[in-house]
Amino acid sequence: MNAQIQAAGTTGAGANVTQAAATAFTLPPLPYAANALEPVISARTVRLHYGKHNKGYVDTLNQLVAGTPFADMSLEQLILSTAGKPEHARIFDNAAQAWNHAFYWRSLTAGNGAPPRALEACIESTFGRLEELKQELGSAATTLFGSGWAWLVLDGAKLRVVKTGNAETPLTTHMKPLLAIDVWEHAYYLDFENRRVDYVKRVIEELINWQFAAENLGAA
Ligand code: MN
Repeated sequence: MNAQIQAAGTTGAGANVTQAAATAFTLPPLPYAANALEPVISARTVRLHYGKHNKGYVDTLNQLVAGTPFADMSLEQLILSTAGKPEHARIFDNAAQAWNHAFYWRSLTAGNGAPPRALEACIESTFGRLEELKQELGSAATTLFGSGWAWLVLDGAKLRVVKTGNAETPLTTHMKPLLAIDVWEHAYYLDFENRRVDYVKRVIEELINWQFAAENLGAA
């Protein structure tokens, strides 16, 4: 209620930000300890990536939507409402990055094992074998020029590997995201410097949360 009163005024933009904090978008907790992804991704990288970059997107989003109808939407609704609209590009970028990062953290896990049987069957029907999917995912992640994301998605009844630039997300398409790999430099530069190919290879071999992908597939 206070936020609405503030938003109706023509001054006090700083107060708007403070007031809106009560109904803000939140940064979901990391699903594991900061050092859980070592030795592939260091605790230092996770703390910076989650605590500064990821938190920064959420904080900026809250500032941008304070006192607007966007503040009352779910994150997914907000992304769909602002996608492809240049006048809302900053809101979209920060909202999509908030969503993409929450999805990325859950796409990773230590001691990842093998895909559950139902997912494995789906992988084999699309890619022939798991190695082929890993190759495609790795290729998408390493060939994306600049900042962005590599994804495993469900496209109709088929699995598919896609890549998106900057904050773009398959959420705005008909495809359902199953896994995400962040290939912005901030995701790997402290640990791998410029060697994105090594980061991608090790994430795919050692950290992909196949259980999470299977759960997303099951919910489709
Ligand atoms: Mn990132």
